[in-house]
Amino acid sequence: MSLSISSLRKNDSVVVITGKDRGKRGRVLKVIADKNRLIVEGVNIIKRHTKPNPQRNIKGGIVEREGALHASNVQLVCPECGKMTRIGHRVDGDRKVRICRKCEGVVDK
Ligand SMILES: [Zn+2]
Repeated sequence: MSLSISSLRKNDSVVVITGKDRGKRGRVLKVIADKNRLIVEGVNIIKRHTKPNPQRNIKGGIVEREGALHASNVQLVCPECGKMTRIGHRVDGDRKVRICRKCEGVVDK
């Protein structure tokens, strides 16, 4: 089974549509294309307990960081109309751009 690669890119604004962080908005920090997963700022925070390691100057404690989400769990927030939308594509001259399916606005600037 293979899923199509998400059209989301780094720095897109997205909203989470399923799971414990449903409704949260954030910016895409990283796209893990081969796994179709994303890291979204402030979303899916995972707490990791770290052991102190004085040789590497690491203090023990709890580190919080964003965990990856599957791309199907988020939707793009259109920069033009501000709505959650699926992404369409359009050929604009010699380049292919992403467009909002709701307002047809161009997502890529
Ligand atoms: Zn739009």
